[in-house]
Amino acid sequence: MAIAGLEEAVFWRVFYGREVSRTALAAELGVSLATISRAVQRLLQHGLLSEVGATLSARGRHPGLLRVNPHLAFLLGLEIDRDHVRAAVTDFAGTPLGYAAASCDARGSLQATLVACAQTAGRAMEAAGIGLDRIARVGVGHTGTLDLEAGVCLAWDGSPQWIQAPLRQLLCDLFRTTELTLDDRARALALAQHLSMPASSHRGSVLYVHVGTGIGAAFFINGSMLRGASQGAGEIGHLIIDPDGPPCRCGNRGCVEAFASTEAVLRRVSEQVESGKSAFLENLAGGRGARITLEILLTAARRGDPVAVEALREAACALGTGIANAVQMLNPSQVVLCGRFVYLAREFLFDTVCEQIRRLCLRNIAKALEVRLGQYRPDLGPVGCALLAAEQEAVRALRRLGGR
Ligand SMILES: [Zn+2]
Repeated sequence: MAIAGLEEAVFWRVFYGREVSRTALAAELGVSLATISRAVQRLLQHGLLSEVGATLSARGRHPGLLRVNPHLAFLLGLEIDRDHVRAAVTDFAGTPLGYAAASCDARGSLQATLVACAQTAGRAMEAAGIGLDRIARVGVGHTGTLDLEAGVCLAWDGSPQWIQAPLRQLLCDLFRTTELTLDDRARALALAQHLSMPASSHRGSVLYVHVGTGIGAAFFINGSMLRGASQGAGEIGHLIIDPDGPPCRCGNRGCVEAFASTEAVLRRVSEQVESGKSAFLENLAGGRGARITLEILLTAARRGDPVAVEALREAACALGTGIANAVQMLNPSQVVLCGRFVYLAREFLFDTVCEQIRRLCLRNIAKALEVRLGQYRPDLGPVGCALLAAEQEAVRALRRLGGR
């Protein structure tokens, strides 16, 4: 391997592995410890990596573990979801330094959403004590259908203002920068999940499935994320599990998301309450026509209300079917279930999802698979967005290093 190629390989192993020893790098990359040490030395000298836990003793210096240099740059991550905007300022290692969130109806006015983005980002920067002039790059995760090459939002839940919206340009204007990374929110969350776990727990290939108001996934193989030919990989929410099923916001019918997103579940339960099928839910919500929230649904399910319990079982079965289809195709070693819905309703969803995956997958595929629950933290989305920006900053820094 050429030295520049080796430096790059070392850097990304450390970026995705968090804290890695030189010995582990030598073994993984199949080169001698001396060769690894030379590549590491250059990455340390140019400030891309730093070292933790090095010790000095009478017998000499014992090198520590390597990690990315947190002081390389500050990043601003911004998550734009259907009902909220969240922002975080992080260092280069993704450590959150400031966080802010605001509710908003992003499907309504595009202009109002941009104002909410600017205000929320402003509050996060204020909390971190870091101004926009010190932010190296802004990372934005969005839940709409995106053309990432053009930087355009093609559609978002049928809201007319978001059709063909030049999102990257609008955000660049908003933050007065050209250093902006736009990506799918599910990828941001997966990256944050991936890097928040110890490296030893994500060996092999991992499928992260995020379940909330929408459903998305990201697949890591050999330490990097699979993006697809037009950066569209991971649309697990739009796998069709029943061609005659309910309409989905993508225009098809019977997608996983049409059964198992919080929106779909709450809509279905609301219809049942409207038609008088659960007096218990009706009372909890404050009458027919009142809004059923996830919290109300979970309270009813915990008290054994059959409509609530059945709605969650149906969502879990649909989710399990969609994940099983993806698992058959990708044969991952782990599936990590993430997102607010899965986290809050885990007692109703997790076992059923696992059973459905085991029932539907071929035995040798199911045998190799571990399904687990991811972390849930409100700042995980914007931190993931900042990490996507860090990835891109790292590409630039490595290019500069290679040019020397
Ligand atoms: Zn769909």
